[in-house]
Amino acid sequence: MSPTDQERQLTTELQALYAWADAEVGACSPRCDASGKCCRFKEYGHRLYLCQIEARHLLQAAPLWTMPADEGGCPFQIDGLCSQRETRPLGCRVYFCDPSFSGAMEAIMEEGIRRLKEITDRHALGWDYASLHTFLNDPARAAITAPPSFNENLPCDTLPRSLPLVS
Ligand code: SF4
Repeated sequence: MSPTDQERQLTTELQALYAWADAEVGACSPRCDASGKCCRFKEYGHRLYLCQIEARHLLQAAPLWTMPADEGGCPFQIDGLCSQRETRPLGCRVYFCDPSFSGAMEAIMEEGIRRLKEITDRHALGWDYASLHTFLNDPARAAITAPPSFNENLPCDTLPRSLPLVS
């Protein structure tokens, strides 16, 4: 299998996992007030963790972000909404603040992580599970290779994947 075919297969498997997770969550109909607080980590008192294959899937399609990334929240939340819904990781799909969902949420996360490890193993990639900001501040750890999506006319090797914050 060529590297391109392998990449495509990995994406297909990840999307299938996300479709499964979305269906599991949807079957429970947890309440969401759309406050956007869950993506403002500092305010909410939690962090988003994801594995390397998810980080790559998310970041290679994402717009540029500043570095070092502000740990207060996710740079992809725009006007209180997720701007990367198609590629958002498992934790974003499964986390809801509805207390009645907490038991089911844990079970779906546990099974989702088990499936992510299976995909990672199947593709002979090392398991790397870290906070979103770890990957944002070290994009190479997410093995970002795709050109920036915000301007497809510029040669990809002339652009950084993220913008260092200059003070
Ligand atoms: S990827 Fe989307 S859902 Fe996940 S933390 Fe960022 S803005 Fe929120």
